[in-house]
Amino acid sequence: MRSSLDPYRIREEFPILRQKVRGGKPLVYLDNAATSQKPQVVIDSLTRFYSEDNASVHRGVHALSERATLAYEEARRSVQRFIHAAEAREVVFVRGCTEAINLVAQTFGRQRLQAGDEILLTEMEHHSNILPWQMVCAEKGARIRVVPINGRGELDMEAYARMLHDRVKLVAVTHVSNVLGTINPVREMIAMAHERGIPALIDGAQAVPHMPVDVQELDCDFYAFSGHKMFGPTGIGALYGKAALLEAMPPYQGGGSMISLVTFDRSTYAPIPQKFEAGTPNAADAVGLHATIEYLEGIGMEAVAEYEHELLEYATHTLERVQGVRLIGTAREKASVISFEMEGVHPHDIGTILDQEGVAVRVGHHCCQPLMSRLGVPATVRASFAIYNTREDVDRLADSLARVREVFG
Ligand code: PLP
Repeated sequence: MRSSLDPYRIREEFPILRQKVRGGKPLVYLDNAATSQKPQVVIDSLTRFYSEDNASVHRGVHALSERATLAYEEARRSVQRFIHAAEAREVVFVRGCTEAINLVAQTFGRQRLQAGDEILLTEMEHHSNILPWQMVCAEKGARIRVVPINGRGELDMEAYARMLHDRVKLVAVTHVSNVLGTINPVREMIAMAHERGIPALIDGAQAVPHMPVDVQELDCDFYAFSGHKMFGPTGIGALYGKAALLEAMPPYQGGGSMISLVTFDRSTYAPIPQKFEAGTPNAADAVGLHATIEYLEGIGMEAVAEYEHELLEYATHTLERVQGVRLIGTAREKASVISFEMEGVHPHDIGTILDQEGVAVRVGHHCCQPLMSRLGVPATVRASFAIYNTREDVDRLADSLARVREVFG
């Protein structure tokens, strides 16, 4: 049975996709794991905010400030609803997933880590879920340990079970790999960590745009994601944290909005989430994120996941038949990301020829250099799909790869 989602109707809502590139070729945008395009309703929400409501939130007594504050806090409630958090104060607005993880590393990490402690990551982590931990580990004399993957790009769960011991102070794992597409069994991993009293942070950058996420059902302690990968504005994202943990954490940055009382000797802090939102917040993009969430709720995340799964299967079968293509990442549970290489052709050359055909893919290490080392490749070509991609897009990709074969023989 085919999914009920109509990608052709959805495409019409994304003005950027109407354009032609490289001498009149219709654009095929397959770089959604890097950033997604924006529907008109999201673009309009930004224009409306700046045209009608723009003011500094939380601090003003005037009409505009009151409206902007209301819109900003409504946006927070929309995130709460979307990820099924228990309370709106468990949602901290940040610039994106990277800032969310840095926030946890610099507050929770610095507070809790001691020499000899360990943080468990996996071989498929994005640099955003490596560097923040490396920095705090260097400061505290703690160390990173890495859960290995198998040849399909799935986590070795037996190794994970063995590595969970008393020195581990946090498990930080990606929900979906941005290179392999693997959907990790995070619910099970969190439960296993919790059995030993170890908290878990989930990097949801590649999950939230593609499937329903329920942080209470997952029982994760922290969940991080970016707005721009889920059809929302750039520069806004969210950190979910369980209220008790957020309350016990020291602030991340100091400044306006995050205080209760300030003297030159000492200060007290605002309650969560304001404690973590120093400075004038990015209210406009929070409002844009709210519009994005309503847009996705209108489609339904179950429908999104179902449609993208069908498209992934079609793309996998199609690309497997292209001569010389080797897929990288064949996990049994996968989201709509396909990495591959082509015998005898450098990924950058593939990317350049595809671009000439109007097909936008990503080539490189995808901010996963340790994963590239593990896979023994310098780079991959990555096609990542979203709700506006169609089977025709997949066919255009395959035809363009045939063109690469012609050029390189
Ligand atoms: N984690 C994963 C798995 C990602 O794919 C990305 C972005 O590519 C990030 C984290 C970082 O997201 P951002 O650059 O929006 O902060």
